[in-house]
Amino acid sequence: MPTPKVWPVAESAWQIRLPLPWALTSVNVFLFRGRNGYILLDTGIRSDDCLLALETSLRSLGVSWSSIKEILVSHLHPDHLGAAAEIRRRSGAPVRMPGREAKLVEPLGPNRKFFAEAAEFLVANGIPADQVEIMRQQAKAGARASERLVVDGSISAGESIEFHGGTLEVVPAPGHSPAQMCFYCPGQRVLFSADAILPRVTPNIGVQWFYQDDPLGDYFKTLAGLEAREVKTVIPSHGRPFRGHREWIANTRRHHVRRCKTILEAMSNEPVDAYKIAGSVWGEDRSLMDRRFAMAEALSHLHYMALRQQVEKVSINGIAHWQQT
Ligand SMILES: [Zn+2]
Repeated sequence: MPTPKVWPVAESAWQIRLPLPWALTSVNVFLFRGRNGYILLDTGIRSDDCLLALETSLRSLGVSWSSIKEILVSHLHPDHLGAAAEIRRRSGAPVRMPGREAKLVEPLGPNRKFFAEAAEFLVANGIPADQVEIMRQQAKAGARASERLVVDGSISAGESIEFHGGTLEVVPAPGHSPAQMCFYCPGQRVLFSADAILPRVTPNIGVQWFYQDDPLGDYFKTLAGLEAREVKTVIPSHGRPFRGHREWIANTRRHHVRRCKTILEAMSNEPVDAYKIAGSVWGEDRSLMDRRFAMAEALSHLHYMALRQQVEKVSINGIAHWQQT
């Protein structure tokens, strides 16, 4: 039996730390004591280890599967959503998540061609075909950490969710994913920040085939929205609760502005593709997984600058290239 890893983080709210078999070794999910049972926010991945760790922690609080009455999911990444279908089977509780992302996790629907479209997107941004094939296999293995499901309802920005410790206001926080939501409790001044604010690291802000528009622009708006809130404690999905959200936001904003500058400087006179830009900014001596993330991150900065007329995209042999305007 694993040891329970549970901490109270606010009145009638607990953080449960679950193991991940990745470089990122854990994710936090949250339990709120609601009016008629418990609300679970996020689920961990679909794995025996993760589910057993969750069960053990719930049991240490005297909470059984059947006392969970609602499952909320902050965003579509496997460490937040992966076990939702299984927990729904065990508890009978409905699952709700941001509507725009729900469509992407359905077993059928637009997501059906996920791997084909993802591969096309990678090729179109300059990744050599043999590397794309390896990335596709990695992505398939990663996808096993998440069980696809048709969710029971959506979470909307501005919605209020009542629990014993007060009200959770649903705050839109796109950027890290197309429609991530944070949960803010004004009464206790705590912010459940999902992956929008994380201690020590900057969340990955990347362009993906299903999120092409302006993730970095979205993220700057997210930061402005969160900065405006009075927050005593940030409770992130990875790492420990911390204070000083405005300082964190100011640093992170500066980081992305600097990164735009670095990317501009890395661009030569010739048009260059995002994969090469990522290689020169983040280094080529990295795992393919890291290089894919770096390319997505480079693209979010390129899209942001393109929308502000600092760079432009030109297509050369079907591959997107970028140049300064
Ligand atoms: Zn995430």
